[in-house]
Order: sequence, then C-alpha cells, then structure tokens
Amino acid sequence: MKKTLLLLSLVAAPALAGEGKWTPQQVLELDPAWLRAQGLQLSPKKLWDPKRGTGLLAGTVNVGGCSGAFISSTGLVITNHHCAFGVIQEHSSPQRDLITQGFTAAERKDELPGKGARVQVPRAFTDVTAQVLAAVPEGADDRARFVAIERKQKELVVECEKRPATRCQVATFDGGVSYTLVDSVELQDVRLVYAPPRAVGEYGGETDNWMWPRHTGDFAILRAYSAPDGTSAPYSEKNVPYKAEFFFPLATEGVKPGDFVMVLGYPGRTYRTLLAEEMAMRQARYYPRVRDVYGEAIRILEEEGDKDAAGKIAVASTLKGLHNVYKNAGGQLAGLKRGHIVEKQHAAEAQVEAWARRAGAKWAPALAAREALLAEQQSITQVFEREFLLNASSRLARGPAMASTLGRLAAERVKPDLERRPDYMDRELARLKDKLEREQKNLFLPVEKKLLTAFVRRAQALGAGERIAAVDKHFGGAFDAKAVAAKVDAMYAGTKVLDLGERMKMFGESLAQLEARKDPLLAFGLDLAKELSAMDELGDRRLGAALRLRPEWRKAVMAHAGKPVAPDANGTLRVTFAKVQGYAPRDGLLATPQTTLSGVVEKHTGEEPFVVPERVMAVAEARRYGPWVDKKLGDVPVNFLADADTTGGNSGSPTVNGRGQLVGVNFDRVWENVANDFGYNPEVARNVNVDVRYVLWMLDQVENADALLRELGVRKGPPVAGETR
Ligand code: ASP
Repeated sequence: MKKTLLLLSLVAAPALAGEGKWTPQQVLELDPAWLRAQGLQLSPKKLWDPKRGTGLLAGTVNVGGCSGAFISSTGLVITNHHCAFGVIQEHSSPQRDLITQGFTAAERKDELPGKGARVQVPRAFTDVTAQVLAAVPEGADDRARFVAIERKQKELVVECEKRPATRCQVATFDGGVSYTLVDSVELQDVRLVYAPPRAVGEYGGETDNWMWPRHTGDFAILRAYSAPDGTSAPYSEKNVPYKAEFFFPLATEGVKPGDFVMVLGYPGRTYRTLLAEEMAMRQARYYPRVRDVYGEAIRILEEEGDKDAAGKIAVASTLKGLHNVYKNAGGQLAGLKRGHIVEKQHAAEAQVEAWARRAGAKWAPALAAREALLAEQQSITQVFEREFLLNASSRLARGPAMASTLGRLAAERVKPDLERRPDYMDRELARLKDKLEREQKNLFLPVEKKLLTAFVRRAQALGAGERIAAVDKHFGGAFDAKAVAAKVDAMYAGTKVLDLGERMKMFGESLAQLEARKDPLLAFGLDLAKELSAMDELGDRRLGAALRLRPEWRKAVMAHAGKPVAPDANGTLRVTFAKVQGYAPRDGLLATPQTTLSGVVEKHTGEEPFVVPERVMAVAEARRYGPWVDKKLGDVPVNFLADADTTGGNSGSPTVNGRGQLVGVNFDRVWENVANDFGYNPEVARNVNVDVRYVLWMLDQVENADALLRELGVRKGPPVAGETR
C-alpha cells in the first residue's frame, strides 16, 4: 500500500499546466500520459535518458548568463541579439558599424570570433546532497555550517574541473534540500555568424521592453568551434565546427495558437520558496529602493551622456542594464500588488501549517524552522539600507567598484585557493581580469563623479547603526555639497585606477603594494573592500542559518503538496511546458498571441526606437513574404506568446514543439508577468518569443544568407562551392 502511494505521488501531474521550471530529472517523474496529453510527442526518455544523464534537453546551452540552443550538428547556436551584443560590439567601429548594420558571414571564414564569448554544453548532473551535508561537522554553528558547505562545494567543483575545458557548479535546490553537481564542457571558440541590425534586434527598445504587443527580432546566430579532435580549444584557424550531439532542427511551419511548446534554458533566480514575510520585505523595501537608487543613476547617465557624443557611447551598455533592472523592479511591484502574491503566500503557508499541526510531532521541526526564519528576517531588515547601498556600490560608479575589487582580490589571493571567496578563486581570475579590462569602454568621467557623489550623499544619510566607515573616513559624516565635490574631484584627479595599463598592473599587486601607491580613489576602494568583506562574513552566518532552517520547512511544503514541486530557478537547466496563447492584460482588454510584419511596419515612426532599417522596410512593404507567411494570418509572424514559466536567464532559450523542433526563441515576459518570480499566475503568465519564421524571413528574404540557409536545411541544393558546412 505504502509503495503504491509513493509511486502515485512521484508520477503525477503538476497543479497548473504551465507552472514549473522542471529539472531534467524531474521530467521523468511527471506523468507521461499528462505530458502526452499536453502535446509532447517524444518519449520523455528522449528528452532525458536517466542512464546516460543527458538527452535532447542538453542541446540547450548556457551562453554567458543567457540561454541558447544548437540548431545544427555543426555547432550553430541560436540565442538573443541582446545576449550576443558583446561580440557584435567587439567588432564594431564607426567605419564598420555592425551594431547598426547587422552582420552576415557569407562563408565560414568570415565568422567573427568573440573574445569573451563562451558556450557551455551540459555533460552530467550528479546528486551530491549526501556529500555536501556530510561535510557539516557535528555541532557546527551557523557560520561553520555555511563555511563547511561552501568548502565542500568548492572541492567538488575544483575536482570536477580537473578535466580540461570543464566548467562545474554545485547548485543548491529548495534552499538546501538537495545539491547537484553540474558538469559542462566549455567551448571557448565562439564566432558570430549572423546578427540583425540593432533596429530589428532591439526594435522598440526600452519603450517596448517587458511589453506586449511586441515586434522585436531579438535573435542572433553564433557558431561554436572545437579542435579537430572535437575537444574544446581557444580560437585557432585550425579549429572546426563543434559536432553537437543534440540539436533542435527548425520547424519551418512554425506554431499556431493552442500549440504545445517547451521552453528550455537556464533561468537565473526566482523567489517562490520565500516565506510570505520575506516576499513582503522585497516588496516594501527592496524594489522601491532599486527604483530610487537606480532611477537616480539613470538620470545622471542620461543627463551627462546627452552632453557628449563619446560619453553617450560609453554609458550605453550600463544604461541599458540599469533601465532593465529599473523597469523590472516596477513590474515586480505592480505584479506583487495586482496578483496579491504575498497574501496568497500567507494563505498557502497557513494551509501547510495547519496540515503540519494535524500531522503531529513529525513536522514540529518544520514549524519551528519557519518561526526561526521569520526571526532571521527581522534581523536582516535592520541592516537593509546599509547592505543595499554597499551592494549597489559595485554597480554604480566604476572607479570605486574597480578599486574595491582590486582590494578584495589582493586580500583573497594570499589565502589558499579553497579558502578564498568563490569569486576570487583561481578558476575565476582570468574572467575577472578580462572584466576589469573591458570596463575601460564604459568609463566616462563626468558620470563617474556624479555617481560617486550620489553614493556618498546616500551613505552619509544612513542612521547611526548603519554607517559605512569608508565613506565617513574619506568624505566626512555629513553631506556638504561643496566639500564632497572637491573630494570627489581630487580623488579622480589623483587616481590611476581609470588608466587601463596601471589598473592591469594593480591586478597583480599585493595589498601592501596597492596601499603604497597612495592613490586616493584606490585608498577609498580598499576601505570599501574591507566593509564588503565583513558584510560577506556576516552574510555567511545568515546563509548558514537559512541552510539549516529552510530545508526543514520546504520538506513540509513538498510533502503537503503530494506531487512534484518544481524548485526555484538557480541557473541550472530547466524545462517548462506551455501553450501558445494570448491573455487579458487588464480589465476590458484581450491580447492575441501573435504579432506580424505588418505590425512592425505600423509601429515605424522614423524615430528611435521605432526605425525599421531601409532594407527591411523595402521587403516588408513589397510584401515579399516568401514561404514564411502564416496562411491564417496572411502575414509573416514576428513574435508570439506562450504561458511558459520563465525568468531572467531564459533569454535566448529555445522554444520547441512536441517533436523537439525549434519554433522560436524566448526573449522576454509581459509586464503583468514580471512578478511571476514570486508566484505563477496562469492568467498573466506569458513569455515572449521570436517566431522562427521571422528569423527565416530575415535570413531568406532580407539577407539572402544562402550558405546559412542551406546549412540549416531550409534552402535546397548543395552547400556553397568550397564550403563544407
Ligand atoms: N528579458 C529577460 C532576460 O534578459 C527574460 C525575462 O526576464 O523573461 O533574461
């Protein structure tokens, strides 16, 4: 009897069809009949073979914090335009402006290598829960618990990365209920094959970001290369296209409303396992502060950037990032309120609590754990403002941020590798160096100064228990506009941190050497680094407490659910099952799930961000749709909606049909769905995808990218002469 019950609870349908970012392993726990009824035509084992620990899902790759997918056995990867932006930018100059014009490699030899571009292909997932938990010494306090767990994670990663070209991660699930070692091959030679003009890839810009209706061709095509023997290798002319074992062929017939789709990818972070009170804190304090602090930064960047052409270019990418976070925070606030998400979480917790009380002693530790988590939350609230500001310091003015990074690096590097903060371990140093180098293109002095002044003013306004000592020491305790401006000027006048060559020298220097430079900005950064480091140590105790308490509570929540519960996003590979469908954004409005090329033309105003490039407009206005017309729409579909459960990091995710063919590329969510990070609401849970037929229309009718289309099997005929695509 018991056994049957257990089986029943494992092979079950989720509560809501679209809800859940399922791990590959969990896909096998879902009821196959339910999956079939949804529209999955492949056997779940094809998606994921438990014996091999891989499957079709592994055709989904991680592209530097974004997702992407192999679309050919010859290493072609599709992702978002905004995810490939770095490579496009790298090869752009005023003389050859690929950002504006777009780029098509006519032949393989024309493909453009991306300096920092990497593609990670998942190779294995191993449950390491027992090893991680066994590492915690008997009687460990919370800090010791965290340190032991983190150390074990680092050991597992270092061991795993002994294989060449390997990138590993120990991911924490359900707040510490389980841990998985993710082992990926990192391909280091990644080249740009195709990018649309920015006015297509980013059509609608900030105005349309997080919005529907949408008409954005947010896609780009890369190719991963390997050494001739198939192993990962840095860029070399001798390299050959990577032979992808799993890939998603293009579904040239596209999708229609009601169709089943799966979105696969690497969602970054969600907060559904938080307690209602913890969510309430983010609603009441965190997001409003994001709006406030980042809103101010945006104003500064825009104001100063508008005064200077070079400055405008320098701040462009920072501004784009800040706008995205700022608007996202607004969406979180609107969605939390509108969806009554905190109230719903309170109600859900009350149900679990009542159930647990009825069940008796078994769940008493879970209830106690919840109480303790709530008490922890109280203590965090008290230092919120200070910690928010310290954390924001790394995203605002670049000078102090780089200086404090150099300080932290110097302090950490003298420790044995496994005792350092994860960000400063040997495995990260090349990336860190690269980042400090690339910052150069984002620097713009007037903005630097204003951002630092704004930071100082905020820090000086903090209460007595929340002081930032580095600010008090270098700028005094109270804001005096003139005095602060003079100090900021002096700091930037006397610093070498903004000088690329000097900064790269600092990268290798000890703390004593850095101090001996008597560089005023560096000195401020070094003091800031000490406070950041102390904050992290306090954070360790807190994280240790959470790792002790949250799993207890989560186990009760999961037992109460009685069916598989998808864990919060944590940057690992997930799949979500969905349907193409529209929604009602608000009272009195119905949104259809597809947009078209005619809509692109209709939105064109000739003013940023709605300027359709001439060569696109010419074909669109002539209605040269080719085979990419949707009969029912009588037009080329551009974007479509589905009710997939996605978040940040899912950018570039392949959206595939029940046969495992690519029908689109995910790139955003609708405004009403931004707060799905806290809870899935089927009424507004919609993700935004580029329709594969728009991709093909661009490549075919606009660009005539012959070689690429042949390689994708879309255009008939042998590969172009001299090519072995
Ligand atoms: N636009 C997001 C991203 O950049 C995707 C999302 O948040 O839905 O990852």
